[in-house]
Amino acid sequence: MQSIKQVMKDFENQIPQSASSQEMTRVLLNYPAIKDFINANQEKISQEMIMNSLSKLNEYRMEKEAMEAGKEGQNPGFTPELFINYNYIDVTYVPTQSYLHQQAQRKAAALIDNRMMALDVQRAKLEDYDLTSPQRLILMEAVTTFIEDIKVNLRQARGMYISGPFGVGKTYLLGALANALASLGYQVSMIHYPTFTTEMKALIGQDNQLFIMLEQIKKKPILIIDDIGAESNSAWLRDDLLGVVLEHRMKESLPTFFTSNFTMAELEVHLASSRNASDVTKAARIMERIKFLTKEWQLTGENRRLSDR
Ligand code: ADP
Ligand code: MG
Repeated sequence: MQSIKQVMKDFENQIPQSASSQEMTRVLLNYPAIKDFINANQEKISQEMIMNSLSKLNEYRMEKEAMEAGKEGQNPGFTPELFINYNYIDVTYVPTQSYLHQQAQRKAAALIDNRMMALDVQRAKLEDYDLTSPQRLILMEAVTTFIEDIKVNLRQARGMYISGPFGVGKTYLLGALANALASLGYQVSMIHYPTFTTEMKALIGQDNQLFIMLEQIKKKPILIIDDIGAESNSAWLRDDLLGVVLEHRMKESLPTFFTSNFTMAELEVHLASSRNASDVTKAARIMERIKFLTKEWQLTGENRRLSDR
């Protein structure tokens, strides 16, 4: 086809237009992005097509200008693009990167339940996890392996039991994992176990509510139980609550994670720690389920809560 200049000339000579619409046509055809589009598609675009597309070209220009001026156009979050629609030039709207990012974040937020956790944990990202110790590297590898495994089969990905002293970043790591999983489309729940048990105790006597809560928590596709062992143990919590949740998750092979200040061996002692002799057996039964669901990992190091200050 001809050059834009030629096209303009032809318009002026052959196509009857009022002065104002001639001026409009000139502005549109000189608009850089429109000019580029027409030049890039010379073979496919005829003069008649351009003539039929003036209102669309104008829409395109207005949207572009609004965006460039930082204003909201007709379709906030979308950027206009030209394309050839049979016999005229049309405008389509493509989502912007920031819109796509926002959408992905919204979707992930709907999949994650971590309301019980501190804000730094809610916002934790695996990318920000500091890998300055060999242990942290190993744990990061384990978390990455879990993500790879779960993509293959949710029920064959084994959870983790991370033990270690206070403030070393156990909760932070699993908070970051939770966010990564949610952004991959998995539903994740993260509960602070001492808070959760307090809430559940408050529901004693309201059996129906208690039952509903328990049913919900035991069936969560991915469950992270933070700070197990920090609750004050009771036979009810251990056998009627934790035992029920873990029994279901074991039967269904549902990914489950724990953090604790206790090693598994220490947790067993904690769970058995009421005077009743049979509690040793009951604690052992809980541990059996935890061991079925997870592999134990240790995280030591400095207390970041002190060093961050
Ligand atoms: P723990 O659960 O082991 O007691 P936390 O996960 O709560 O420890 O971490 C303690 C503090 O250190 C928190 O304020 C947390 O935000 C911060 N933190 C831990 N790990 C990291 C990390 N890799 N990068 C940045 N901050 C971290
Ligand atoms: Mg913690």
